[in-house]
Amino acid sequence: MPNIVRRTTATALVGNVRIGSDAPVVVQSMTNTDTADIQGTIQQVAALHRAGSELVRVTVNNDDAAKAVPFIVDGLAKLGLDVPIVGDFHYNGHQLLKKYPACARGLAKYRINPGNVSIGRKNDDNFRTMIECAVENQKPVRIGVNWGSLDQSLLTRMMDENSRLPEPLDARDVTMEAMVVSALQSAKIAEESGLRHDQIILSAKVSGVRDLLDVYTMLAARCDYPLHLGLTEAGLGMKGVVASTAGLAPLLLAGIGDTIRVSLTPKPGGDRTEEVQVAQQILQSLSIRSFTPQVTACPGCGRTTSTFFQEMAQQIQTYLRDSMPAWREKYPGVEELKLAVMGCVVNGPGESKHANIGISLPGTFEEPTAPVYVDGRLMTTLRGDHIVAEFTRILDEYVATRYGKVSELASIQ
Ligand code: SF4
Repeated sequence: MPNIVRRTTATALVGNVRIGSDAPVVVQSMTNTDTADIQGTIQQVAALHRAGSELVRVTVNNDDAAKAVPFIVDGLAKLGLDVPIVGDFHYNGHQLLKKYPACARGLAKYRINPGNVSIGRKNDDNFRTMIECAVENQKPVRIGVNWGSLDQSLLTRMMDENSRLPEPLDARDVTMEAMVVSALQSAKIAEESGLRHDQIILSAKVSGVRDLLDVYTMLAARCDYPLHLGLTEAGLGMKGVVASTAGLAPLLLAGIGDTIRVSLTPKPGGDRTEEVQVAQQILQSLSIRSFTPQVTACPGCGRTTSTFFQEMAQQIQTYLRDSMPAWREKYPGVEELKLAVMGCVVNGPGESKHANIGISLPGTFEEPTAPVYVDGRLMTTLRGDHIVAEFTRILDEYVATRYGKVSELASIQ
């Protein structure tokens, strides 16, 4: 498998998290609580962080939200959670950061949208004010361009210039170029205002997959800032998951993208941490990072007329997810573990042999036995009503033996 060559050379430090260059691609997420609801926001940040979000962004949209930020940061510290909190500012960030210095100090990074501060209007004072706060507090910023709030005066000027060309470009191409120009011009102003080169992260989010590929390819070719990658407004459920994966995967494989977010719309009352799981799964499927043991399961077909193997694959997946918080601490490297749960003899033994541990369940009319392979070799054959329990016991033993520390193994033996 060819190595992925990362395009970024600069590295930014956000709290205790390095972003860019040779640092691991960072997973981040955003709360959807009212930031002024301190306890609710602490709980959701904690849940997102425990699910694997390495940075969490909160909206800072008014006085109450800005006042709440230091209490949220303190509350998380009291829970023992060292998770950098990023403030998401639009329109009034310059006022809030000046008015609430504890908020400015407590945040690990400021996200600034150049399309809705002051850039391109009569002056760029508001943007400069936010950068001055970042310089004063030594905070990195993400200059986050979004095509839904692109600097309209810049876009209008570029459209006008384009229309005067002998062969004008397509309006869509001009829009993509305007996003790149907006990000780069803002970064230039930020550096002129005193922010260091390595305190800047850029993003240029769009909601179409092809647009995302184009705009980030252009942006990566024209700067060495770390890039935050994400499909904005990815959407609900399967559409959001598929579109995000389709957009992020080619860029990540091309070495573009230093931190990612999957912007799923949760169902009402749904689990916000799903976006973290999807982001991790994208990185793990591309062999960029490992977060949790992977279960290979066949789709089933006419040879599996019972749902037993589907249920078993689900039970194993749930068991792994439930075990991982403790395993992560006790068994370094366990996230690389590969399991196979297969439905019949056709591909079952073969796929099982490629996994660390694999089980091939009996298909319809096959002998009711389930061979278990460990590191490519037949270890045992399970039968009867306790196949799942026996398989998880084998799994536990394998994990403890292979990934346990010496002291752990001594206590088992
Ligand atoms: S492994 Fe067996 S049950 Fe699973 S899809 Fe292939 S043939 Fe069907």
